[in-house]
Amino acid sequence: MVYGDDGHINMDPDEEVRTAVADVFALFDQHGSALGVVRSFTGRRFPRRDTGVWAGRLGWGRLTHGRAISILKNPVYAGAYAFGRNNSTRKVQPDGTVTSHVTRRPREQWTVLIPEHHEGYISWSRYLQIETKLAANRTSTGARPPREGPPVCQGIIFCGSCGFPMNTNYRRTDGTADYVCTRARSDAVLTPGCHTIAAAAVDPGVVELLLAALTPEQVSLALAASDEIHHRHRRSHRAAELAVERARYEADRAERAFGQVEPENRLVARSL
Ligand SMILES: [Zn+2]
Repeated sequence: MVYGDDGHINMDPDEEVRTAVADVFALFDQHGSALGVVRSFTGRRFPRRDTGVWAGRLGWGRLTHGRAISILKNPVYAGAYAFGRNNSTRKVQPDGTVTSHVTRRPREQWTVLIPEHHEGYISWSRYLQIETKLAANRTSTGARPPREGPPVCQGIIFCGSCGFPMNTNYRRTDGTADYVCTRARSDAVLTPGCHTIAAAAVDPGVVELLLAALTPEQVSLALAASDEIHHRHRRSHRAAELAVERARYEADRAERAFGQVEPENRLVARSL
């Protein structure tokens, strides 16, 4: 978003910038996580408008996880005007240096919030949905969002020794998975009972118990969910195909345009 001299907030005038920001929200809809958005942006550049002395200058870089989160959480993209979202505290350290620390305030404590203040990429209600989804995704606070992948216990298995959730690690060599207690990894000396266990050792037993406990309706629900995942993968595949098609078309067009240039003008064409 750009702030005009008249105090108005407008969408970025650059189309590539607008597309990139709109894609952050579209990809969040598709993947349901900031990590999914970042992964989809691999190999694609992301815009950044400078602030300070170079205010407004357009630069390009990588879309980081932090950047994706800050866009998804920033009400300005949802057409809202907000002020006072941060708390800034400064501390003088024993050696005399001053450090400042910025923390986010909960929405109820923002100084000013005016929804539908300007044109945004998403609606205010969508903004609130994203906020809820992001909170549900925060595994560090104990949330266990559903995960995709072959190991059946990922996201729901807890360490029998310390009781903390276990992570799923895929082995580079053969792609099989292990459930790993994060406690064991960070401090195996203090938690000798924490272990890593191969998914192949746990999963068959869990599957057997699960099938014994499931009703036919629950099975059809699970099949529907699996179809949805399949479709989602096909859609992202299709998007990649379209991108290749577009790139081919553009290369073709550039080649034709180049071919039409008179020989004496070729030098000019090359420098354009
Ligand atoms: Zn443990």
